[in-house]
Parts: sequence; structure tokens; C-alpha cells
Amino acid sequence: MRWTIGDVTITKVTEMEQPLPLSGLLPAATVEALAPHSHWLAPHFIDDAGMTSLSIHALIIESDGLRILVDTCVGDREVPGIPGFRGDPTFPDRLAAAGHPVESIDIVCCTHLHFDHVGWNTRPEGDRQVPTFPNARYLFCRTEHDHWMSVTDDGYASTIADTVAPIMDAGLADLIEPDHVLTSSVRFVPTHGHSPGHMSVLIESDGERALITGDATHHPVQWAEPSWGMAADWDGAMGIATRERMRAEFSGEDTLVIGTHYAAPSAGHIVAVDGGWQFRAQV
Ligand SMILES: [Zn+2]
Repeated sequence: MRWTIGDVTITKVTEMEQPLPLSGLLPAATVEALAPHSHWLAPHFIDDAGMTSLSIHALIIESDGLRILVDTCVGDREVPGIPGFRGDPTFPDRLAAAGHPVESIDIVCCTHLHFDHVGWNTRPEGDRQVPTFPNARYLFCRTEHDHWMSVTDDGYASTIADTVAPIMDAGLADLIEPDHVLTSSVRFVPTHGHSPGHMSVLIESDGERALITGDATHHPVQWAEPSWGMAADWDGAMGIATRERMRAEFSGEDTLVIGTHYAAPSAGHIVAVDGGWQFRAQV
């Protein structure tokens, strides 16, 4: 799956898709609460039983001659606290098949440091974890990094010792501010709440615009119901305020919104309809 924004291209490479009841992700999203939204969420984002598909994918941005990988999925290791759950070991092959072998990546960035966004930063080699992308600089938000390194309960950031610390030790990481500019067309925007230093990625080129959400939202229904937080949000009130601000700034046909966990087609527009809001998938 590939999008063109001016002279920038964005390619989605999926690691896995997990079917689950949406209320397992967003506790407020019961079948009853979803009913008023089901007509516009179907067929891509919800079925009649309130089931959705949580897509875990990476996005590769090509801009100014650089290849920028946004979020690195779960990775080749079991996630602590989730017995039997691990990423797909063929993910690097999928990157290569999409035209982006691991050696070709110039920049790796993580919207935040939860386990499903940092996994392929590293890969196991013997009893060590080594960088998967040997020629890349890795960008982490300083606030996000310092927070998770300072707490004893690392929650969803449960793999950082294996996925972030080895990158720091290898000297491949840069700690950045959440409004860091990557290229003439690509920059981060701070969207804290789901985690302390969460960032989204904004692409602007030739009058066209796209936003990669990260986990500021997990599902398109949150554009209509920004108060529906995700169970693991670090600061729920901040997450709500962030979604309301993002909706004000990025609604309309001018901005293609690409969800980091949205099921295929994974992108669309936030539109005002009959005094409310919907997300219109771009198919
Ligand atoms: Zn996530």
C-alpha cells in the first residue's frame, strides 16, 4: 500500500493484523455505543459484532532522498507479560519485498516507545540484541526516552531494554524534541497523552498534506468520539485534548490521515457530517 503526497511517497508494510473486539482496545466502544457510528465505520473498520482488526505496520517515507521508517512493530521476541505473543520474523523480508531492505533505511523513528512501535529496532543475534538497520540514525523523543528510562513500571514500554538501550549503547540514537524537522517536507508534531512524549508525523509537499497519527488514535471512531481513550493511555485527559486539537487542525479534504493501527485501507479524511464527525476511508 502506497500513497503520494506531492513529491513524497509513503509505503505501508504490515507485520500483523489482530482481530479483536473494539471494546478491548477502547473500553467505551461497546456494541451499543458504536451503533450510531457503524454505518460509516463498516466495512473497513468494524463488523456487525463490534469486531475490528488492529493492524501493526510500519510506514516508510521517502523525502529529500532519505528513507525514513516510522515505527518498527513488535519484533522477533516474545513480549513480556503477553505469553506467546511475538512479531513476525519475516518482517525484514517484507520490507525488502516492498523495495526497502534494512540496509537502505537512513532514519528510524518511533512515535513512542511502546512495545509495538520499537520491536524491530533490534533483532536477536545469539544472546545479544543488535541494530536491525545498521546504516540508520534512530530518533527518539527525549521526553519519552527519559520518562521510560526513569520509571520502574515500564508498562507497554516493556521491551525498551532490548529495543532502545542497545541502540543508545551503539551510538546510533539521537534524542530529539517533539517538533523536530526531518526533511524539507517532513516534521514531527507533539501529540502527547497516550504516552508522555508521543509524536505524530506531518508530511507537507506541493500543497498536499498527510498526517501519520501514531497512537494518538488507535481507531477511526476516535475522530467522532475523542473522549474514547485507549486502555493504556498514560494521561487520558491529555489524550482527549490532543485528539480534539488534532481534529480541529487536520480535518477536511486537505489532510490525508494515515492511522498507525487502522485496518486497511488505513487512511482517509476526517469530515464534518450533520453536526458530528466521521472518518471517510480513502479506498
Ligand atoms: Zn501501538
